[in-house]
Amino acid sequence: VQLTLCYHRIDDSSHPVNESSVSAKQFDSHLRTLRRFFEIVDLQELKVHSRKPRVAITFDDGYHDNLVAAEILEKFQVPATFFLSTYFIEKQIPYYWDLLSILESKDLLSKMTNQLYALPRYLRSDTKGITAKEVTRAISVLRKEDRIMAINKLDQLTGTLITARELVSLGKPMKVEDAKQIATSQLLHIAAHTETHPSLGEDLVESDLSTEIQVSINKISQWSKKQNVDFALPFGTELDWTGRTVSILDATGIKRIWTTEAKKIDKSHSNVLPRLVVGNWKSDELVRQIARTFVRSQLK
Ligand SMILES: [Zn+2]
Repeated sequence: VQLTLCYHRIDDSSHPVNESSVSAKQFDSHLRTLRRFFEIVDLQELKVHSRKPRVAITFDDGYHDNLVAAEILEKFQVPATFFLSTYFIEKQIPYYWDLLSILESKDLLSKMTNQLYALPRYLRSDTKGITAKEVTRAISVLRKEDRIMAINKLDQLTGTLITARELVSLGKPMKVEDAKQIATSQLLHIAAHTETHPSLGEDLVESDLSTEIQVSINKISQWSKKQNVDFALPFGTELDWTGRTVSILDATGIKRIWTTEAKKIDKSHSNVLPRLVVGNWKSDELVRQIARTFVRSQLK
């Protein structure tokens, strides 16, 4: 029995806590509990036969606060993989969904959306009541150059609209040096999660699909000085990949493609794999969720 867990942020600030943020204290307690019930292994050791059920730990996006997780993981001598969206890390620009959710919480979203010219016209003309989720989706399927334009404009406009305190609570990406540092660890790995975090489903143009994947894999290999064989799909639902996505990833030498769905994935793609997205749960809740996922998805 095996399962891969997907974390995002290690965040102790309370405003505005992302639903997939876990506090440092909680993460520490998760590891203590996981060690009692499971063998915590590297992604490549998951499938190795063992008596004790196995779990692997992953982090998506590349938040700066993942360095806190790295420290805790080292303390417990537990392996983990960090999936990084390289554009945000290189440019030190906040992730667009975080900027959008902060604007939403301040009721500034519709005002802002009107100024993002790269967005489809229907989103600009009728933005009353629009949600951060909808705009995130729209940006995630733009052409790469338009997404980059939207992300930069969003960053620039948000900077003038939110307070310094809100800016601090906004999850920053780690730096390239941080990523390289993590990769020097015996236990910790970095892996690709595209450049600008698009949805890799049927709406994305094929040339963007290839560059988003290839460029991020090249960068990660360069930063880690290792071959990159794991890849996490941005957003990771069934809308966010197709057979075309899998073919391109296969051709680049990726061996395991990770989703964010805790269920059995389409059998015709045996290298597309489930993960359980972890919330800020107490440890007993985490164990309960893992057990439920084992049963529900028959991931044996
Ligand atoms: Zn992501």
